[in-house]
Amino acid sequence: MMPRSSVESSSAARSPLTAQVVARCVDVGRTYGTGERAVVALYGTTCTIEAGDRVAITGPSGSGKSTLLHLLSGLETPTVGTIEWPALGGNPRDGAQRAGLVFQAPSLIPSLSVLENVELPLLFGGAARDDARTRALEALALLSLDGLQNDLPQELSGGQAQRVVIARVLAARPQLILADEPTSKLDRGNAEHVAQVLLDVCEEIDAALVVATHDPAIARRLDHIWPMRDGRLLTKDGDAA
Ligand code: ADP
Ligand code: MG
Repeated sequence: MMPRSSVESSSAARSPLTAQVVARCVDVGRTYGTGERAVVALYGTTCTIEAGDRVAITGPSGSGKSTLLHLLSGLETPTVGTIEWPALGGNPRDGAQRAGLVFQAPSLIPSLSVLENVELPLLFGGAARDDARTRALEALALLSLDGLQNDLPQELSGGQAQRVVIARVLAARPQLILADEPTSKLDRGNAEHVAQVLLDVCEEIDAALVVATHDPAIARRLDHIWPMRDGRLLTKDGDAA
């Protein structure tokens, strides 16, 4: 049986003929470890993200938010079920980096400048040096960070560092941006600013956005809220999907 979830209401609002499916999980589950040590991080989950979607995944620590984001990014593979990325050419992790992940943990490389941090994934992805520099500078300018390009990460405030991380994802122009608790280490003002920056960036490059967050004020800025508990995606009414 197809579970009812907030996902379906999002597709109902758009014409099913024109809606483009960015990512679709069918009965996707993830277990870490084996035998007695096995931990089920995510139980069979079915959900769809369409072009233009702005989704907040909420829920207490340990409910499976990061696991679902990592699976949606293609960084981890499900232990059961299937994930498809039709609008991303089938593979979110090819050289074009079609899905970009903003990690929960600090992820800037301390010994590289802001500009070098933003360039690095482009170079790994096979971009020519000049091209990587141009795209990195564009991304920094879009986030009003151009003045900080030669700074080291330790010289940045928390809000600036998080904007650099977003610039690094933006530079690759992904069609899907997945952000894991992007505002959890920031004060209210910076959290609101970073959330707005993420929304603006997705608008600018026409990417779908999925944000895992504890913060109800941030979640409310997105169009859909998918609550999670104990490895399960709940419907809006709080039932297991
Ligand atoms: P959240 O992001 O909502 O805090 P996670 O997806 O990180 O939740 O974790 C869900 C569950 O899976 C937790 O019980 C966590 O301890 C477990 N888990 C996550 N990653 C691993 C891992 N690499 N190895 C073992 N257990 C893990
Ligand atoms: Mg997490």
